[in-house]
Amino acid sequence: MHKFGDCSFCGGEVKNDTVEMDYRYKGQLYIFQDVPAGVCQQCGEKYLIGKVSKEIERRIQAKNQWKKTINVPVNKFSEELTF
Ligand SMILES: [Zn+2]
Repeated sequence: MHKFGDCSFCGGEVKNDTVEMDYRYKGQLYIFQDVPAGVCQQCGEKYLIGKVSKEIERRIQAKNQWKKTINVPVNKFSEELTF
């Protein structure tokens, strides 16, 4: 288990957990589930250790057998919309 420092955004405690990660590579969106990561208990920021992000890149480049492919709805906010 990796020991994470405090969250660099809010200073909260970062605990080991498994998370779902979105990862974009060359315009393609990939989703990885059950990724070991540190999660800030306050703001929810996720921290990956180098070994894990390397493994993610390796799996994408190895064109791993994907468990499943899902359709992702895409919605674009128009520019005339002001808040
Ligand atoms: Zn935080």
